[in-house]
Amino acid sequence: MAMLEVKDLQVYYGMIQAIKGISFEVNAGEVIALIGANGAGKTTTLHTITGLVPAKAGSIVFEGVDLLKTPAHKIVSLGMAHVPEGRRIFQQLTVYENLKLGAYTRKNKQEIQESFARVYKRFPRLEERKNQVAGTLSGGEQQMLAMGRALMSHPKIILMDEPSMGLSPIFVSEIFDIIREISESGTTVLLVEQNAKKALSIADRAYVLETGNIVLSGDAKDLMNDDSVKKAYLGE
Ligand code: ATP
Repeated sequence: MAMLEVKDLQVYYGMIQAIKGISFEVNAGEVIALIGANGAGKTTTLHTITGLVPAKAGSIVFEGVDLLKTPAHKIVSLGMAHVPEGRRIFQQLTVYENLKLGAYTRKNKQEIQESFARVYKRFPRLEERKNQVAGTLSGGEQQMLAMGRALMSHPKIILMDEPSMGLSPIFVSEIFDIIREISESGTTVLLVEQNAKKALSIADRAYVLETGNIVLSGDAKDLMNDDSVKKAYLGE
């Protein structure tokens, strides 16, 4: 059974249907990319999974739990973390305080300390800057902080929304290297990206979303060589 199974999902904003009956699955250990143009419905899909937007029809099951019947605040404790588009870090709080908030579902002090150690090991720059006010970090550092904060809940799966947005090419590469490392350390990844080239380069499989429908899916390598994907998403 897949770790996360989305079936025939439909989502509306008022009268407008943003998601038109999509199905996809994420198996434990995979990096799955959801690619597509602006407005295709990528963010809406993530928001529906994490309970921020209600579904009209369909099902979302995570490790046997029906997420459409699970309140948003309970979803994190099931082992699902979300790195939102635009990072959404707490600008006035320090790096350390932001990270600590990421562990809010956890009680065991020693485990929280272990998570800090793991996050600082993965992001040495966050440790160097732990007392810095988060709003003064660079865009790339803020993305690292958002990812670090999500990892503080020690998730089984991490959902990332446009991690490359607004970053310089060097930072983009660094962020994607880190996503690969997060995956290699055992966390499953569902990645939403407009940067299809980068996303496909680290993903195992991918789904292409167009105006609320999945129009193509398969191994990331195959999609990278697919003529329609090349033309529409890889600028070739
Ligand atoms: P982007 O990369 O630009 O964020 P996306 O693929 O993530 O695009 P969504 O943000 O999911 O796309 O948007 C899908 C569609 O739903 C768009 O047509 C968008 O205008 C619409 N939409 C998104 N949020 C809302 C909202 N809160 N109210 C009404 N319509 C919305």
